[in-house]
Parts: sequence; structure tokens; C-alpha cells
Amino acid sequence: MPIATVNPANGETLRTFDELGAEGIERRLATATAAFRTYRTTDLPERARLMARAADLLEQDEDAVARTMTTEMGKPLAAARAEAAKCVKAMRWYAGHAEILLADEHPSETEVKDSGASRARVHYRPLGVVLAVMPWNFPLWQVVRFAAPALMAGNTGLLKHASNVPQTALYLEDLFRRAGYPDGCFQTLLVGSGAVEAILRDPRVAAATLTGSEPAGRSVAAVAGEEIKKTVLELGGSDPYVVMPSADIDRAARTAVTARVQNNGQSCIAAKRFIVHTDVYDAFAERFTAGMAALTVGDPMADTTDVGPLASEQGRADLEELVDDAVRRGATALCGGQRPADLPRGWFYTPTVLAGITPDMRIHHEEAFGPVATLYRADSLDEAVALANDTPFGLSSNVWTRDAAEQERFVRDIEAGGVFFNGMTASHPALPFGGVKRSGYGRELSGHGIREFCNVTTVWHG
Ligand code: NAP
Repeated sequence: MPIATVNPANGETLRTFDELGAEGIERRLATATAAFRTYRTTDLPERARLMARAADLLEQDEDAVARTMTTEMGKPLAAARAEAAKCVKAMRWYAGHAEILLADEHPSETEVKDSGASRARVHYRPLGVVLAVMPWNFPLWQVVRFAAPALMAGNTGLLKHASNVPQTALYLEDLFRRAGYPDGCFQTLLVGSGAVEAILRDPRVAAATLTGSEPAGRSVAAVAGEEIKKTVLELGGSDPYVVMPSADIDRAARTAVTARVQNNGQSCIAAKRFIVHTDVYDAFAERFTAGMAALTVGDPMADTTDVGPLASEQGRADLEELVDDAVRRGATALCGGQRPADLPRGWFYTPTVLAGITPDMRIHHEEAFGPVATLYRADSLDEAVALANDTPFGLSSNVWTRDAAEQERFVRDIEAGGVFFNGMTASHPALPFGGVKRSGYGRELSGHGIREFCNVTTVWHG
């Protein structure tokens, strides 16, 4: 894929970039390594000062960087602004909390004695240069979610961003430089995915984090496995959205629309499979479909737009194939199911609800990365749980029920990294984020996230 800004709202190539060559990569690797040697010795108040400064700068830049993101990947401008604001919040949260999250841990006196020590503690040290391979869908947030904790822990970062968001990638490097981070603490590598293996194998790279598709995760994890390097993988999702009879159906249906089409439907934690108890199925299906059909699709820069274009022509083609396959095998499109006729330029797709899904359809077990919802009817709680788990993915889940016993059942049995009741899945700096099964491993955000790229060091005194 060329490294370029191509506006998905009209298909125009606005700017192309040369890929960094071997010499450029080498220079950046050397700089990142040199930076780590000194940056790792900085104290947490100093790191917090730098992170807070970066947050302030990003806050000032909110509108400009939001426009860059919308131009590069098509999310509605209001959503892009909200993404920038969310990054500011996460940066400030880590600036304010890292000292507590990374504080030494002390076993009890009895445990210390039992280990034969006079004193013992657990101490968190940084790992080194961390390579971040990132996707375009939340081009700022995905990176900040890695960079804020990694830098606060004393690591240095190398960003290989998705090839279609180079200007956002360069903005991020510039942001950390302007905030006063020493040279080499955070650098962008304008390279394609073919360059990742060699960079990851370089002995100067200590670890990697990848947010993206399953194939990309598999490939990076395989290389890291051979090199015995730590990885965190945040991969695809096909989150269930279960609606039980005790739910507030109006709210559940309204939230379902947002949960499905947020970010033009291209969110890993978007609700994708809507599993509705038979007692409330008709009422939910009618309201949900009406809500999806009422969305305004169009120019992502316009305030009135709910759903912009998909980020790439290929992304739309993949989505169309999934829908066409389902319809060919007997699914019914309750709304949508095709491109909007009035938007011939750009990579738009009409918000779609598909009913009558069966396991032989690809969409039953593959991720639909766009504004397409699948609707299932469940006759019982057991069936709802079974359907929720009938997916290779396990990122998060949404369940609408006011019944406490049912809630406990879902917490116990849903195979996912999160269970969100009576609302939609969203990330927050204080709450861990990540999945199980094919959605990956490791956690981002919270104390769990900052400790992923730490050397958990046992300190023992005889
Ligand atoms: P993608 O094609 O996997 O790309 C993600 C990143 O990986 C890009 O920087 C890409 O570079 C790189 N890449 C692709 N193939 C690679 C390989 N074989 N080796 C090394 N790097 C490789 O994913 P995407 O289409 O951008 O993003 C959509 C996917 O990401 C969806 O499945 C979505 O669910 C998932 N996602 C997950 C989370 C989460 O937190 N779990 C969050 C957001 C998105 P190029 O751009 O140069 O190809």
C-alpha cells in the first residue's frame, strides 16, 4: 500500500510520501536506543511534566488535527474532535497516575521473612524501545493509548502507523517533540508493513504492540515469538449486543445504533451482532432498524453527517462481499444492503441491518468492519450466551438486562475482555482494555496497560 493521504469522501489522492529507506530506519533505531539510555533515568515527576505539556498542546491543536484525521480516514469531524479530547484526557490521566501505578510493591513481613530476605520489594523498570504498529481507525487514540503509558514508564516509542494516515502519524511525532521530549523518545517511521519484520528482529527493539487485524497480529506475533520479545495484540472484534426482556427497549435500540455506526462502523469494539430475546425481538428490531435507516450518510466534514465513508475502497469491497454472501444464503436486509445512490464518489455504504443470519454465512463468524449489523433471535438466556460466544473473537460485549442474576450469568460465561451492562462498550483510561480468543492478548490502559511494557523486577536483600 502506498504511503499517502487519500480522501475517502471523494477518492482524491492529496499527498504521497516516500517510504523511509534502510538508512533512515537505522538512524531512527539508533536515536531511539540512545534516547532510552538517558530517558529511562528520568524521574516520574519529570515524565509527568512532559506528558502534561503534550496534552496541553494537543488540546490547542484539537480542531486542526481532527480535520487531518477526517481528511485521511473519513470519520465525522465531531467524532475526530472527540477523539483528540479523549487523548488529552488519557495523557493527563497517566501523567497524574503513573507514580501510583508504578509504585514499588511490598510483600508482607511474614512473606519477606519466609523468602529468606531481610527486605524485598517489586520494582517496575522500563523495557526499552517499543515498536507500535497501529491502525487507521482511531489514528490518534490508538497511538496515544500506547504512547502515554509507555513513555510514562520510561520506554521510548517507534510508531509504524497505517499507510493511509501518514499526516496524523507525523503530527504525533511533532507533538511529542514540541512538548520537549528528548530527541528519539517518540519517532514515526514512514514505512509499509513489509518493513516491520526487520525492525522487530533488530536487537535494539525490546517489544512490540500491534492494534489491527488478525493476519497482521499473527505475523507480528510469529516474528516476536521467534525473537522472544514481549507483545501486546489488540485485534479484531465482533462484539455481541444482547437484549433481554427486562431491558429498556427504547434506550437499548437507540444506543444500539450508536454502538454499531460509531466511527462509520469501523471500530473494533463496535457492537456488531445483535442478539435479542424473542419476547422483545420485534419491538427492538423495529426501533433499531428505524434508527439505522434514519442516519444521515455523507460528507464527514459536515455537522449534519452521522456516517461518513469507509476508509478505503478495499474496506468497502470487503464489507459488500460479506453482505452479498449473507443475502445470497438467505439473510434479509431490513434496511440498507447497498451503496447510497446519491453518493457516487467516495467509499460510502448505507447503514444496514441483516436478519435471518445462519452459521453458514461468512458474516456469522467474520468481522463486519463498516455500518452493518446482524440481528439474531434467542429463545432463552442459554441460547443468548451461546450465540454471544459463537465467534472466534472475544474483545468486549454489551448486555441489556436489569435482572441481577442474569447479569452475573453473563459476567461468568461471556468469553470477552469486557461486559458492559445497559450501555455500550467504550474505553476509559482507568479501565483495562483488551480481549481474549482471536481478539488478542495483553491489556492496554489502567495499571494493567502501563505494566505491560515494564520489567517487573524482584529486589531481594539477604
Ligand atoms: P491492518 O491491516 O491489520 O493494519 C494495522 C497495522 O498493521 C497497519 O499499520 C498495517 O500497515 C500493519 N500491518 C498490516 N499487515 C501487517 C503485517 N503482515 N505485518 C506487520 N504489519 C502489518 O488493520 P486495519 O485494516 O488497519 O484495521 C482494522 C482492524 O484492526 C480490524 O480488524 C479492527 O477490529 C482492528 N482493531 C482492533 C482494535 C483493538 O483495540 N482490539 C482497535 C482498532 C482496530 P499498512 O497500513 O502499511 O498495511
